[in-house]
Amino acid sequence: MESNFIKTIVEKDLAEGKVKEIVTRFPPEPNSYLHIGHARAIVVDFETAKDYGGRTNLRFDDTNPESEDVEYVDAIIEDVRWLGYEPDKILYGSDYFDEQYKRAQLLIRKGLAYVDDSTQEEISRMRGSFTEAGTNSPYRERSVEENLELFENMKNGKYKEGEKTLRAKIDMAHPNINMRDPIIYRIVYQHHHRHGDKWCIYPMYDFAHPLQDAIEGVTHSFCSIEFENHRPLYDWFVKECEMEHTPQQIEFGRLNIENTILSKRYFRELVEKGYVTGYDDPRMPTLRGIKRRGYTADAVKDFVISAGLSKTNATVSMDMLEHAVREDLKLKTSRIFAVVDPIELVIDNYPEGKVEYVDVVNNPENEALGLRKMAFSKYVYINRDDFIEEKPNKKWKRLALGEEVRLMNAYFVKANSVEYDKDGNVLRVHCTYDPETKSGSGFDQRKPNGNIGYVEKSTARKAKFNYFTSLFVPGTEGKDFSERICKDSWTIKEGFVEDFSEFKVGDSFQFIRDGYYTVDTESKEDELVFNETVALKSSYK
Ligand code: ATP
Ligand code: MG
Repeated sequence: MESNFIKTIVEKDLAEGKVKEIVTRFPPEPNSYLHIGHARAIVVDFETAKDYGGRTNLRFDDTNPESEDVEYVDAIIEDVRWLGYEPDKILYGSDYFDEQYKRAQLLIRKGLAYVDDSTQEEISRMRGSFTEAGTNSPYRERSVEENLELFENMKNGKYKEGEKTLRAKIDMAHPNINMRDPIIYRIVYQHHHRHGDKWCIYPMYDFAHPLQDAIEGVTHSFCSIEFENHRPLYDWFVKECEMEHTPQQIEFGRLNIENTILSKRYFRELVEKGYVTGYDDPRMPTLRGIKRRGYTADAVKDFVISAGLSKTNATVSMDMLEHAVREDLKLKTSRIFAVVDPIELVIDNYPEGKVEYVDVVNNPENEALGLRKMAFSKYVYINRDDFIEEKPNKKWKRLALGEEVRLMNAYFVKANSVEYDKDGNVLRVHCTYDPETKSGSGFDQRKPNGNIGYVEKSTARKAKFNYFTSLFVPGTEGKDFSERICKDSWTIKEGFVEDFSEFKVGDSFQFIRDGYYTVDTESKEDELVFNETVALKSSYK
C-alpha cells in the first residue's frame, strides 16, 4: 500500500522500538453482511500489517447477543477470504468474557466502577450536555464491598433487565461526554451464539473493545473516525484495567459511495421490505452483492487503495469503482460474442447444413488466453440494433438493405430483404455472402459498411442478461425508501452467446462492443444467466 498517515505512525513506532511486530485486527460485529465500506477497513488492517511483516486477526465483536447470528459469522469469514486475506487467527470477543469480568471487578476494587440502580432514562438525563456538566448518580458512592456483591448478583441473574448497570467512575463534569461515567455492563437475557445462556451481563463496546485489543496484543487498532471521541475512554480502560499490552487506537475516515447507502440497518430494511431480492442482490453494495454482479476482489482492493486514506470521511463516485472493475477485467477475460435482443440473418447463398469454424484470438491484449474456434453457418444471430432497413446517413456503419458489412471473423454479407413477425417487427434478414472475403484472406477489393458481431444459430447458447442501474433515484437523499427506490433498476433481456465454455457461476467475459458480464448464481446449463458487471466505455463500443 502507498504511504499514508497510518503508515507514517506505524513506521515511527517501529523505528523508535515502541513495537516489534505489527499486530492488527478487523473487528466486525456479526449482525449483517459486509459492504464496500468495510473493504476499506479490511484493506487498511491487513495491508498495513502485511507491509511490515506483521499479522492480522479477524475478531468478531460479538458482545451484543440481541442482533448477532452465526450466519453472519460464516458469511464474514467467507467475504474476508474472498477479498484475498487469510486472518492469522479467527477470534471472538465473547471468548474474553471471563477475563473482562475480572477486569471489571478490578475496577470496582480500585474504586473506579460502581453498580447503578438508575434507569436508562435517568442515566441519560444525568449525563448533561455539551454545554452543561452532568450530575452524579445517587449510587455513585457505594462501597467497594457492596459494588462487588451487587455486580456478582448481576452476573448471577438476580435482577431484571434494565434494573442495574455497572458504570465506570470517571468524571461527570468531563468535557468529553463519553468520559461521564459510561456504562460498562448491562443485563441482557438473550441466548448468545457461542456461549448460550452462560451470561446475562454483557460488556459495552467501549469497555469490551480496548480490552479485546489488549488481550490479543494488538499494536495498532484502526477504526473509523466516529470513534475519535471514544479514544480517551479506550486509553482509560486499558490503563485502569492494568492490561499488559497497550494498543494504540488510530482513526481513519469512512468510505462512502455517492447515491449508495453503506449501512447495515438500511440493508435489512431493503431486504425485509422486498426492495431487493436478498443481501446478495447484484444491486446491493454488500461484498456478496458486488461479487455476484461480477466485481472482482482485486478491483475492490485497487479501488479502496486508489481512493486514498485520510482522517476525514470521503464520498467517492461509483464511476471510480466501475473503472477499477474494467481495468481489472480487461486482461483477465476472454472477449466473446453475445447477441442481446437478436434478429436472425439467413445467408441464402451459403450451403444448408454446413458449419465452418474460424480461429479467433480470445483476448488480443493477453495471448495467454489462447484461441478458440468460432462457428459460422447459413443461420446466424445479430443484434437488432445492428440492422436498419434504410441506411439513414453516412454515419450508419452497420447493416442496412443493400449494404455490405463484415461479420466479424467471418465474411462480408449484404442484406437483400426482410421478413417480419405478425406485429411488423423485423424477424429475419436475408443476405448473400461473398466467399472471397473470408476474414484473414487478405481481401481488400472493397471496404464494408462496418463490422458487426454475430452468433451462429445451431451452436448458440440461450441466455438471459440482467441489467442494473442504481437502486436509488439520484438526488433523493434523505427521503423515504418508498420514494427513493428506482422501480426498474433491474431489467432482463434475452438472447444468445456463442458456445464458448461451460459458463460456470462467477466466470466473467467481455461481450465484444458491449460490456463485461458474469455468470449469475441462477444460471443453468440450458438457460444461462449473465449479469452485466459493467458496460464498456462508450468509445470502445
Ligand atoms: P454499519 O454502519 O454498516 O452498521 P459498523 O461500523 O457498525 O457498520 P462494524 O461491524 O462495527 O460495522 O465494522 C467493522 C469495522 O469496519 C469497524 O472498524 C468500522 O469502523 C469499519 N467500517 C464500517 N463501515 C465503514 C466505512 N464505510 N468505511 C470505513 N470503515 C468502515
Ligand atoms: Mg459497529
